Amino acid sequence: MEKIQNYIGGKLIPPISGAYFDNYEPAKGKVYSQIPDSEYSDIDLAVKASQKAFPIWSIMEKQKRSDILLKLADLILKNADQLALEESRDNGKPLKLAKQVDIPRAESNIRFFASAILHFASESHSMENTAINYTLRQPIGIVGAISPWNLPLYLFTWKIAPALAAGNCVIAKPSEITPYTAYSLSKLCKEAGLPDGVLNIVHGHGSKVGEAISKHPEIKVISFTGGTQTGARIASIAAPMFKKLSLELGGKNPNIIFDDCDFDEMLKVTMRSSFANQGQICLCGSRILIQKGIYEAFKKAFVERTKQLRIGDPMNEKTNIGAVVSEIHMNKILSYVELAKEEGGKILSGGNRVILEGENKNGWFLEPTIIEGLDNSCRTNQEEIFGPVVTLQSFETEAEALSLANGTEYGLSSTLWTSDLKRAHRMAQNLHSGIVWINCWLVRDLRTPFGGTKNSGVGREGGFEALQFFTEAKNVCIYL
Ligand code: NDP
Repeated sequence: MEKIQNYIGGKLIPPISGAYFDNYEPAKGKVYSQIPDSEYSDIDLAVKASQKAFPIWSIMEKQKRSDILLKLADLILKNADQLALEESRDNGKPLKLAKQVDIPRAESNIRFFASAILHFASESHSMENTAINYTLRQPIGIVGAISPWNLPLYLFTWKIAPALAAGNCVIAKPSEITPYTAYSLSKLCKEAGLPDGVLNIVHGHGSKVGEAISKHPEIKVISFTGGTQTGARIASIAAPMFKKLSLELGGKNPNIIFDDCDFDEMLKVTMRSSFANQGQICLCGSRILIQKGIYEAFKKAFVERTKQLRIGDPMNEKTNIGAVVSEIHMNKILSYVELAKEEGGKILSGGNRVILEGENKNGWFLEPTIIEGLDNSCRTNQEEIFGPVVTLQSFETEAEALSLANGTEYGLSSTLWTSDLKRAHRMAQNLHSGIVWINCWLVRDLRTPFGGTKNSGVGREGGFEALQFFTEAKNVCIYL
């Protein structure tokens, strides 16, 4: 069985312990490769490789760094079909989705930051006849990047690209649940001519490798995307060492639908914002809030459409809903469906595991699930389920919609459907979230600030925000 390798100092190598653990194919429920069970010592080795590489990479002309990253983007494009296959196999997501979204976005992440660094300028502050200040933005050193399993290569590259473009060395840990495409990327890095030690990819459990990244004193910056509890754990270790932290955490996002919306467009997009990637996107609108006048019409149409979604083999082009990522995660989602019932919720559609035939008979498939009749304060409406499960709630006034939307500890994104421009602006101003989509969902411009408020995170990714995060600002004051 294939053994995934760590990528340290430009070499593909086994973990120091020699130990591996199983990597599963969610659509078949079976093991198909082995993951290095790395430890602190592997991270330490990666730190040493980064320390060796940093003096060269950090002073390399930006144009040269950019050229290498552009070459890497080209190689992702060249290998896109193979990477999409690997992503679908490792994660359970429909191959079509990996081809249309995950891999193209991984490529554009690298391409975008390879270009952005060439346009990144720092500030100057003139004090009339007294002095002039200019700000230097310099690479910081070694960055730790920890990413989740839901959009594996997409989110992995979203972190490493700005960190590398800004001249840092990176030690990255993909989720142990979906390590494969990061492994493939390490081979492409060699081909692109990335100098040894500039990017190191260390695989293994979050509790060992992730913790080692948080603890290692030479890793000065941590960029993390994942669950809120894990984010809190990382912060508790890293903050006393004054590490720079960017935390992109969970969400419980409202999808707010007013009577005056474009119903057909709203319905089409709401199908995606509810169930794309089996609902395993931090930005999915898992709480659907509908104004009373169209509640029944929406419910009927939404349930009908949801029942038409095809659950099946991710490799089949006709599949809409693939497998969820792991057996543990499947059981967690099912336990939330049970909780919803205990809390008095009515299941309008779905709610069960799906057993397919043939090769997929042991796969982890779930029906897309719609629940109504629950109060906003119950656990089902407060906790992140991160699966193909949405709840419906109705509201009458704008104020009520706002209160429901803002009534959780999370604040990642909100979606708003209305034809009333003034209301759209008012709501956008007052929603407690880092991102507001009006009459659309997941429309992304990589230059915009990306991140959440409240328990959804600290800091912003994207565009120059990311380049600022991955550089140290130094003000130089010249007396005139
Ligand atoms: P986790 O928090 O479980 O894991 C995220 C990453 O952290 C993984 O690589 C994991 O490793 C690692 N990790 C686990 N424990 C530790 C630890 N103690 N120290 C350091 N690292 C650790 O999240 P999931 O992978 O389950 O991802 C789903 C979550 O991510 C959801 O809450 C979702 O909302 C959030 N998310 C947020 C996004 C955003 O932009 N705000 C985008 C996408 C997802 P391993 O898997 O090997 O345990």
